[in-house]
Amino acid sequence: MNVMSPVAQDEQTLRADLAAAFRIAVELGWHESVGNHFSAAVSADGTQFLMNSKWRHFSEVTASNLLLLDANDDTVMEGPDAPDASAWCIHGTVHRLNPYARVLFHCHSPNAVTLATLADPALLPIDLNTARFFGKVALDLGFGGMADDAEEGRRIAETLGSKPVLIMGNHGVSVAGKTVAEAFEHLYYFEKAAGTLLKAYATGKPLAVMSDNLAAKTAAEWEPYSGMGEAHFAYWKRRLDRTQPDYKT
Ligand SMILES: [Zn+2]
Repeated sequence: MNVMSPVAQDEQTLRADLAAAFRIAVELGWHESVGNHFSAAVSADGTQFLMNSKWRHFSEVTASNLLLLDANDDTVMEGPDAPDASAWCIHGTVHRLNPYARVLFHCHSPNAVTLATLADPALLPIDLNTARFFGKVALDLGFGGMADDAEEGRRIAETLGSKPVLIMGNHGVSVAGKTVAEAFEHLYYFEKAAGTLLKAYATGKPLAVMSDNLAAKTAAEWEPYSGMGEAHFAYWKRRLDRTQPDYKT
């Protein structure tokens, strides 16, 4: 008989899903050295959240080695399990301030980073995948070097608002979702869409950019497909169950 409380069971499910997201990120080439962070709010107010520990390769993240952090408890920074300082500030602040960002992925995936290096990194609607994000991408062009304080987290939380994607100029991307599966699907399609736009730019030919009306219509037509994200993530978890089942330990 399962004796776990509903709350504990939810945290365990969240731990396994978040750990899976790190493994999938490696499979898709989104990881960078032992940096970058994915997090998920546990408490309703977002102050308690799960995040990967400092300098652990994404391929070695498991459900149990994710840190459960309290954004109001500074003492964690003095202990042996202190998380990356900037990630602790930023993710905690975003979870606290932005109710849409229950799950927050920040990474330097190749296409997102390249797009972020352009003077105008707007994701133009030129195909189905780019149009999926029409009106849903926030831009932060205020790059000021390595982010290292809660003020940066506040700016990210406010700029992101209710949008699922934040392009961070000269830096990378942050993606938010209500669930791990939703955030994963946003990042999956964003990375593909950014790659398509970059290839199109590389041809040097004029782009067939959709009108705002057509792009908005196409973005709306994606809404009934939101269930694809759950099915896609479920597929990846089944694949991990076969190939690297330790992710959920
Ligand atoms: Zn970064």
